Amino acid sequence: MTEQDLLDNLREVEERIERACIRSGRKREDVTLIAVSKTKPLAMLQTVYQAGIREFGENKVQELCEKAENLNSDIHWHMIGHLQRIKVRQVIQKACLIHSVDSLRLAEQIELEASKCDRIVPILIEVNVAGEETKYGVSVLEAPELIQKISDFAHIRVKGLMTSAPYVSNSEENREYFKNLYQLCIDIQKKNIDNVDMEILSMGMTNDYEVAIEEGATHIRVGTGVFGERFYQVKKEDEANV
Ligand SMILES: *Cc1c(COP(=O)(O)O)cnc(C)c1O
Repeated sequence: MTEQDLLDNLREVEERIERACIRSGRKREDVTLIAVSKTKPLAMLQTVYQAGIREFGENKVQELCEKAENLNSDIHWHMIGHLQRIKVRQVIQKACLIHSVDSLRLAEQIELEASKCDRIVPILIEVNVAGEETKYGVSVLEAPELIQKISDFAHIRVKGLMTSAPYVSNSEENREYFKNLYQLCIDIQKKNIDNVDMEILSMGMTNDYEVAIEEGATHIRVGTGVFGERFYQVKKEDEANV
């Protein structure tokens, strides 16, 4: 992929975001594009950075930290992938927002590490809105109770919800899930819980971000649409498990 291809991709995504905002009567500045750069080389991130993007998403802690150390310090790094407790200490130094908190144990670890370095860590609760067996996230029913418990932690702020909707060929199939997550956000906001402010709704990926915007997404996470297809190298020892 050439630099020009990247810039063309970015322009197309931007146009689609604008059109989705117009269709749904939303302001463009109320939707944040997170460029999901996992597996992609620094040079590609630099091109996108020079085009004005400052929000990047990564799903692995080590990759996020390495990229953060090698790129401009005004980039906001979003941790969007499943987070192991052992990686919490590292990630809270670099990430502006952890999108993928889905258990009390993980939140306890974040609270512990954040208190040690006297930080307040903003997080989202990951919701498995379609109840897919292969996905992380709490159910819609479990989310309020988890948020209530996390609200007791002095070094964590719950900023909203995140979901990855199913992979579907027609994005309309996910509209109902996005509506449900939006409604869940509203319901939790109404409870006025301390340390909880449901201002972020992170939903919508390459295949469904326009529908997600129409249903209230404040942050969309677009990888393929910006950077092109990802090519994963399969390690020999992993091949048996593929
Ligand atoms: C990879 C990833 C994305 C981006 O997916 P695309 O379909 O390439 O846009 C978004 N969110 C999460 C959690 C991801 O892991």
